[in-house]
Amino acid sequence: MKCPGCEGTINDSNPHCDSCGFDIADFDKLLQTPADRLGTVNDWAGVLSAEGLERLTGRLDNFKGATGIDFCLVCLLSSEPRSPREFSFWLFNRWKIGGDDHRGTLVLLSMNERRIEVEIGYQMEKYIDDDEAAGVLQHHAVPFLKKGDFDNGLYHSIDMLAKIFEHGLAEERTDAEN
Ligand SMILES: [Zn+2]
Repeated sequence: MKCPGCEGTINDSNPHCDSCGFDIADFDKLLQTPADRLGTVNDWAGVLSAEGLERLTGRLDNFKGATGIDFCLVCLLSSEPRSPREFSFWLFNRWKIGGDDHRGTLVLLSMNERRIEVEIGYQMEKYIDDDEAAGVLQHHAVPFLKKGDFDNGLYHSIDMLAKIFEHGLAEERTDAEN
């Protein structure tokens, strides 16, 4: 994954950056303990409708059941006192999304800062890298979010990322059979 300080590459298992000196422990002092995780969808900002919440939870729960990949969504009112990018990095690591081998992904929407971020776990980078995933959000979420359509923006972008993972896994299975 990328260092939230300098955007250089950082080791998932030890979130410390030799280039810029960033260390995840610096965030712990400010942010302390993360809130309890609810499941695949954590809409703390209350941006999803009841239907939107049900649709996204269904998609991500089914995805996890079929693939074992832990794909998590968090909607925050604000990431203060850190940036959304730093907050998503911190939460991904502190929740251990995808377990010890980081077989997971986090999408984080922060309302006040008007930002949507994505963290791709180490085991998932062979399917899509951080820059490509940010591009998916830009194309499939941002146009809807700008109009205030959170249900569709979050669903379409997350569904697209899940499809990319599903496609990558299917190709691996085909390769294994040949
Ligand atoms: Zn750095």
